[in-house]
Amino acid sequence: MLAPVNTNKVNLLGFDKKGLEAFFVELGEKPFRATQILKWLYQEDVTDFEQMTNLSKSLRQYLQEHCCITPPEISVAQQASDGTRKWALQMSCGNRVETVFIPEENRGTLCVSSQVGCALACTFCSTAQQGFNRNLSTAEIIGQLYVAQRELGKSRRITNVVMMGMGEPLLNFDNVVAAMRLMMDDFAYGLSKRRVTISTSGVVPAMYRLTQECDVSLAVSLHAVNDELRNILVPINQKYPLKELLAACRDNVEHSPRKCITFEYVMLAGINDSVAEAKALLRLLKDIPSKMNLIPFNPFPNSLYQCSSPEAIDRFRAVLHNAGMVTTVRKTRGEDIDAACGQLVGKVNDKSRRAEKLKLASSSNVPRI
Ligand code: SAH
Repeated sequence: MLAPVNTNKVNLLGFDKKGLEAFFVELGEKPFRATQILKWLYQEDVTDFEQMTNLSKSLRQYLQEHCCITPPEISVAQQASDGTRKWALQMSCGNRVETVFIPEENRGTLCVSSQVGCALACTFCSTAQQGFNRNLSTAEIIGQLYVAQRELGKSRRITNVVMMGMGEPLLNFDNVVAAMRLMMDDFAYGLSKRRVTISTSGVVPAMYRLTQECDVSLAVSLHAVNDELRNILVPINQKYPLKELLAACRDNVEHSPRKCITFEYVMLAGINDSVAEAKALLRLLKDIPSKMNLIPFNPFPNSLYQCSSPEAIDRFRAVLHNAGMVTTVRKTRGEDIDAACGQLVGKVNDKSRRAEKLKLASSSNVPRI
């Protein structure tokens, strides 16, 4: 049973610190009420305004009447044999998004979604097949940490966040940035900026804006070494080709204190995994301090590609490694519950009717690659 959503009340999960300060000032309260509320919400896990004892009685009463703390509802919870956990969260209008927790020895990473579905038609990603429905609100994004941390209990902490779930985070800029600010705020989750990573397919203007406005780690989904192939794999490349993408990466490196970008490269058999392409990758990135994260392709129903063989991945990795590039191969986690990269589908009322269009395209044998 879903709890009724009280649409008349203001959901306090929707504000970062600045937003909360403005909210309280508007009420005639002091701005420091914002940090008090943040602590109750994110550090003390208190949801009953009456228990927020450092607030005045009249403010507690006001909050009780006009505000709420409403995280997304869990509709399905799953745990993989390797300990990876996945929650399908019910959003409004029957949509679902997925959030994945990946436990490792020294850290616990939460993979967070930014949109219901995705508008970018990357041909190797199952979220793309679902089409796009809408942006998630700040409350729905930070709500994923809120719900997951609650489910994990005190024994396991979320130490890292990657915006690598469903959606393109830079196409939902304001809500994603507000949520990432809460992740890094000492009065909320207090994660260091090295532990909060945004991954983008290359929305170039938003990359420049991000560099100016929010200091987090940047990962860029590269996947190809020339425009011809990238136009197919990551179609937003038709709008922002490699030259422009790499200029935005250089700008980020120049202006960010970490001075390094992680590139993601999905390994597709016979498509982008040759030694020649590894060498071309080195040439392409020679003037950008880079780390490379090779992602073995995770298949999904009706996917067009196959994963490169372990030998091909290793050959590719060795070329980069021997040239001095820090290169990791992403370990596939949570495969038995479809929680791996690119397998998140949720349940989307597809506004772009992408699934229908794809069905038509495949039935008329239109070559897609
Ligand atoms: N839209 C953002 C974040 C989404 S996904 C982006 O494009 O970066 C996070 C990573 O998983 C991206 O690098 C994406 O390209 C990759 N990915 C998507 N589908 C995949 C699949 N089936 N197998 C492996 N990696 C995949």
